[in-house]
Amino acid sequence: MSKSASAVWDNCLSFIEDNIQPQAYKTWFLPIVPLKISDKVLNIEVPSKFFYEWLEEHYVKLLKTALQKELGPDARLIYSIRMENRFGNNNPFTENIPSSNRGGIIPQQVDAPLHSQSDLKNPFVIPGIKNLQIESQLNPNYSFENFLEGDSNRLGRSAALAVAAKPGGTSFNPLLIFGGVGLGKTHLAHAIGVEIKEKYQDKTVLYIAAEKFTQQYIEAVKKNTRNDFIHFYQLLDVLIIDDVQFLSGKTGTQDVFFHIFNHLHQNGKQVILTSDKAPVDMQDIEQRLLSRFKWGLSAELQLPNYETRISILKNKLYRDGVEIEEDIIEYVAKNIKTNVRELEGAIISLIAQSSFNKAEITLELAKEVVMKFVKNTKREVSIDYIQKVVSDYFQMDVQTLQSKTRRRHIVQARQLAMYFAKKYTKASLASIGNQIGKRDHATVLHACKTVDNLSFTDKQFRKYVEDLSQKLSL
Ligand code: ADP
Ligand code: MG
Repeated sequence: MSKSASAVWDNCLSFIEDNIQPQAYKTWFLPIVPLKISDKVLNIEVPSKFFYEWLEEHYVKLLKTALQKELGPDARLIYSIRMENRFGNNNPFTENIPSSNRGGIIPQQVDAPLHSQSDLKNPFVIPGIKNLQIESQLNPNYSFENFLEGDSNRLGRSAALAVAAKPGGTSFNPLLIFGGVGLGKTHLAHAIGVEIKEKYQDKTVLYIAAEKFTQQYIEAVKKNTRNDFIHFYQLLDVLIIDDVQFLSGKTGTQDVFFHIFNHLHQNGKQVILTSDKAPVDMQDIEQRLLSRFKWGLSAELQLPNYETRISILKNKLYRDGVEIEEDIIEYVAKNIKTNVRELEGAIISLIAQSSFNKAEITLELAKEVVMKFVKNTKREVSIDYIQKVVSDYFQMDVQTLQSKTRRRHIVQARQLAMYFAKKYTKASLASIGNQIGKRDHATVLHACKTVDNLSFTDKQFRKYVEDLSQKLSL
């Protein structure tokens, strides 16, 4: 009369498969083993606590629906987790926990674990890892199509294309893209991922900043889930790590990355790295890692020449549907030579100014905007002034802004002050950090990136940036 656990689970699987991305299905559901069923309770085995946590976090509703379709409204789910042995004997043991009732599955009494050492009532999460896997963290705007070719980037761009066409199947493994800020490393790294996802839908691609990778790792160590962390990364087909120079001096993270790298490489998986320096110039990165970096190809992105700057500008305008006279484009391209980010910044600000003021984009306006972009001592505002303006804006005093607190709105204000100090002054990161509450240069760098990211993804935050830019540029 009653179906076997595997029959029930098979039906659940086909329902689940119809409702999620193939890749997510492959990653999170195929490894599950149905163990037993008694009455309305299905017991499934998952490979790790991490799996359990992930399923509960992301798929509890789906699981509930699937299970109720099979077993009726009283269906319950219990996970069995194969624990790694921490007690020196060789038998792994199993720990059972019920699904949470967040999705409506009523928790079943916890089966007594064989060993009750770990605190599964408060299961770990690897912060930041939560929403990663399925979306790959790729920005579709950063495509090859939008990445204009020039002498400055030809090698990198073609290598990237080759890797995207055959991930893991070229000798460019790892592919290391390096070069100064704003030259397109992040863009190119995303482009590879975007292209791979388009061509090979089942490939698991993950883009992650080295900094975030480091944070996740530290968190995993704290929570004693280092193996889960490694396991997670070893599941990937394509791993893109941005700004690996960030791993400098972080031996623990380098070590774990080394293991992940070796595993992926041995299994023909593709690794893509970016860095602001060539491997020879990287400091405090272990020799064995540096030598791995050299296994593949290191391609440098250089400053784009005038022609490339023109085509980048035209492409950007074209995509934004804006028409600007040729001489204005030439003026901007001639005067902004630092990097592509600034070039884009100038053009965005030009478009913004003209639409705010309902004015045409004229050469005059272009000159004004470029003046502000080409860091110009006469107009330079002081870091003190920036801190004052930012704290006023958020109605706090400068001391609060500089304090050690981690309260979100204060942290944000501080990061904005750092960002504008970087943008509007010539001060070094170290000096900015020192003046804004005695932080180090890495903190400032992080702040700048956070602001960049948030103004990209968060509307409210973008408004802060716009308001403050206006106040500061008066
Ligand atoms: P990096 O990571 O090297 O600091 P990014 O990849 O963030 O630089 O690039 C900065 C900006 O310049 C991005 O908006 C990117 O789209 C743009 N960009 C860089 N190189 C090119 C290029 N060759 N064609 C078009 N846009 C580019
Ligand atoms: Mg970058």
